[in-house]
Amino acid sequence: MQCLIKEDLNQTGLTLKTNYGEPVVGINDVKIKVLNASVCGTDKSIFLSNTNQGIREEMLRYTTNKNEYKPIVIGHEFCGIVEEIGAGVNKENFASLVPQIERGDYVTAEMHLNCGSCNLCASGQAHICTHVLVKGVHLDGCFADKVVVPHQNIIMLGKGGHTKLVPPKIGSMLDAFGNAVHCVSKVNLAGKTVAVLGLGPLGLMTIILAKQFGASRIYATETTDIDRRFALANEFGASHCFDVSKGTNEFYQTVLKQERKSMGVDCVFEMSGSPYAYNDAFNVVCNGGKVILLGISRAPLQNFDIAKNIIWKGVNVEGIFGRVMYSTWTLMLNLLESSGDTIIPKLEKILSSKTYTLSEYNEAFDKLVTGAEMKLTFSLN
Ligand SMILES: [Zn+2]
Ligand SMILES: [Zn+2]
Repeated sequence: MQCLIKEDLNQTGLTLKTNYGEPVVGINDVKIKVLNASVCGTDKSIFLSNTNQGIREEMLRYTTNKNEYKPIVIGHEFCGIVEEIGAGVNKENFASLVPQIERGDYVTAEMHLNCGSCNLCASGQAHICTHVLVKGVHLDGCFADKVVVPHQNIIMLGKGGHTKLVPPKIGSMLDAFGNAVHCVSKVNLAGKTVAVLGLGPLGLMTIILAKQFGASRIYATETTDIDRRFALANEFGASHCFDVSKGTNEFYQTVLKQERKSMGVDCVFEMSGSPYAYNDAFNVVCNGGKVILLGISRAPLQNFDIAKNIIWKGVNVEGIFGRVMYSTWTLMLNLLESSGDTIIPKLEKILSSKTYTLSEYNEAFDKLVTGAEMKLTFSLN
């Protein structure tokens, strides 16, 4: 089969294989023929692994000998059609409660594989299981014609292959959208004031959701690709956008003026990972407000004043990783179903207009690395 692998962590780039062996279906696995697969920031870091110590260390975590990297197929955001089902799969399901997985079903998957036996897994917190392995980071992923996933990680999108509710381009980015859904599910946003820091795909998705959940004023910040991102943010419901590459004064002053009764916004979503954004987050959140952290900073924070920023303000800080397994997925699918055509057309605007083939991977990654596109999808099969 055709696939994209990461051959050498010390080199930029990926390798296209055209005669790679198909993945083997274990007794509890499902094999899926991939329709679309989307590229995210993690894939971009893997592409640039020679300059990113963090991702190199992460990809070596699962190897038995830490210096001996075994090449893997990368990619973890996809959707496709069920092609083969392990012998043990439907037998151990409670057939009356869980729909059987059948050949031809249209599915996506949670690509975080939890251990299933630790205290976190046993208490509904499998998404932060300390033994979690990610397909496409530690194990073979989905930038391939076929991918194999444990049956419990399968998310049904359409029985019999129906793609009406979620078109495949969108089906392949639900992993990312799920991160944003997880973030907004932590707060009751009805009537609340919000700041979204960073207008990459996840920041923009957060604005779509904040609006959907009834947030009142939505402030947004970004430093690059301003015209396009601000236009999308405004269209999705942001009330004020600030280019903070030119300084934060206007941002802080506007929030203070608009929100003078509470002296800040009720909730900040930090989606950028920029070290500067943490100052912004705690400067604009009101006392007693909430800061949701999703962006991943490249380096530890220096000189961060916890007393001033968190304790004396009584701020509630929450870190978000992945999607709650599986309540975030249920919430997300219910939302897509009930929102009619309000969410999906907006998500489509975040994606590049061009859909790439796997063999165009260099062009695709170049578009992400240079910032010409912020999210794109491969079309396979
Ligand atoms: Zn991702
Ligand atoms: Zn576990």
